[in-house]
Amino acid sequence: MNKKDISIVIPIFNEKESLPELLNEVVQILEEQFNYEIICVDDGSTDGSEEILRQYASNNPRIMVTRFLRNYGKSSALTEGFKLARGKYVITMDADLQDDPNEIPNLISKIEEGFDLVSGWKKKRLDPLSKRLPSKFFNFTTRLLTGIKIHDFNCGLKAYRNEVVKSMKIQGGMHRYVPVLVGKIGFKVTEMEVNHRPRKYGETKYGGARYFHGLFDLLTVLFLSRYMRRPLHLFGIFGILSFLIGFIVNCWVLYLKYGLGEPFSKHLALLVFGVMLLILGVQFISLGLLGEMIARSQPPSEEQMKQVIRETKQST
Ligand code: UDP
Ligand code: MG
Repeated sequence: MNKKDISIVIPIFNEKESLPELLNEVVQILEEQFNYEIICVDDGSTDGSEEILRQYASNNPRIMVTRFLRNYGKSSALTEGFKLARGKYVITMDADLQDDPNEIPNLISKIEEGFDLVSGWKKKRLDPLSKRLPSKFFNFTTRLLTGIKIHDFNCGLKAYRNEVVKSMKIQGGMHRYVPVLVGKIGFKVTEMEVNHRPRKYGETKYGGARYFHGLFDLLTVLFLSRYMRRPLHLFGIFGILSFLIGFIVNCWVLYLKYGLGEPFSKHLALLVFGVMLLILGVQFISLGLLGEMIARSQPPSEEQMKQVIRETKQST
């Protein structure tokens, strides 16, 4: 049997206790079945993770370590790993032992069925309720708004075809919505139930603020995936609505003054409200036009072109 080439990308931020177990386990599973490389991206750890990684890398030429000078976040760590990945398939997994490496062969079998991205689904998730409930809300909303029908967008365990990771640049908190970004380009996305384990060592790197970040990232991802190349279509709707309502309100105030003879001073609040809506409408439309200028000032990348071609097809 031909061994398959796979790259494992692991983002790591202060996971000293988990690393030895993780690397031993992953190597043991991969050794028999795959021609592999493990790319460890140390996202500016300060707890001594770096030394452990270097030690493993010096003993096993298949383990590669790259390190950020400071903490840049999981998305940047993944992007760096994606740049280096040479395997035909790329697997991402968290470093905290929550993702089960025994699922790697299953993910590879699934992607070989002809998918571009197989996203893990932690159906029986072993995290506290305070994490599971908001996550259910985000997954539900994202599924509804994007039309991408998977249950667990932010699972660390995923398998990609190499071409997919090379066409993706994620930053900020975009790793939470990778299936949306990939799906919107036109790649085939699916999900697979995976085993999930409780966090054994250390703590989650994301506190309560994750929910706000999650919300802003959802807005960004929706905006980018739907309106990046045609921003006026989003801002224009708000602009026209606001302008129209303002126009009607002001016509009504004029009618009260000149039709019924009531003084402006009696309807000052309404007048101000109407004028405000008119100005807001103009602002929104200008914002949309500025967006259109920015969108046109850079030629679209190859991936954006694919998206544009797809959008044009849908609308014709
Ligand atoms: N991580 C990272 N940079 C960060 C935060 C997290 O590389 O700034 C890594 C972390 O070491 C782990 C993975 O991303 O391997 C997921 O982090 P965590 O387990 O804290 O997230 P959760 O499972 O709680 O969503
Ligand atoms: Mg975790």
